[in-house]
Amino acid sequence: MSSPNGDGANRSSAPIELMMPEVRAEIERGLRFAHVMMSVGQDQGNEAVAYVQALADVLVQKGLIREEELEEPLERARQEISKLMMPRVRLAEMGDKYAEGQAVEIDCLNRLPLCHARCCTFRFFLTKQDLDEGAACWDYGNPYWIKQGGDGYCIHSDPASRACTIHAQRPHVCRQYDCRNDKRIWVDFEQRIPAPLPEPSANVPVAMAEVAMRNAMRVAEAHGEGRSPG
Ligand code: SF4
Repeated sequence: MSSPNGDGANRSSAPIELMMPEVRAEIERGLRFAHVMMSVGQDQGNEAVAYVQALADVLVQKGLIREEELEEPLERARQEISKLMMPRVRLAEMGDKYAEGQAVEIDCLNRLPLCHARCCTFRFFLTKQDLDEGAACWDYGNPYWIKQGGDGYCIHSDPASRACTIHAQRPHVCRQYDCRNDKRIWVDFEQRIPAPLPEPSANVPVAMAEVAMRNAMRVAEAHGEGRSPG
């Protein structure tokens, strides 16, 4: 993801009236994500706290455990839970991306006809610094992952040239990515032999929030509440 600079059209140059339906749809999707996450998290949290509190009270009252004995198993349980696949906000902290040594130097421009910038189809999330800058677009329905288009490429990858349209401010992950030993991209980097291109697919990212949303709707339907989203 160390694609070279490109002067291709940036989405932000589109007339605002043409962008409005898309912007509105993105904001709605983002709000749905936030609302679903709030209700899912709240329900699960309340239930878990009530259950554990009741259990601990019973055990202490019966003299079966002392309160301080709970600390170690509690920490173990926290670690197990952190491994579960849960919809969650991802935001990295990687320091200053403009600091010396943060950018891998590769002759991307010369290699684009071979590699087709397929590194720009990989999914990753932004850092706080990227977010504060506001140059890179993230997926409102899957914060703070890079936004991808329907072709599976990063939204900042120029469709004609595959150059990066925000090269100077590209995300930290893009700066640090080194394709030289990545077998998804090169059979042999030095010999300039690219790996076979993967089958084209409509690689639209599925937001983790949508999984939670579907589950929430299924539960609501089972209880005879609400309707499925359109
Ligand atoms: S911002 Fe997008 S187009 Fe630019 S290098 Fe990163 S993944 Fe590629």
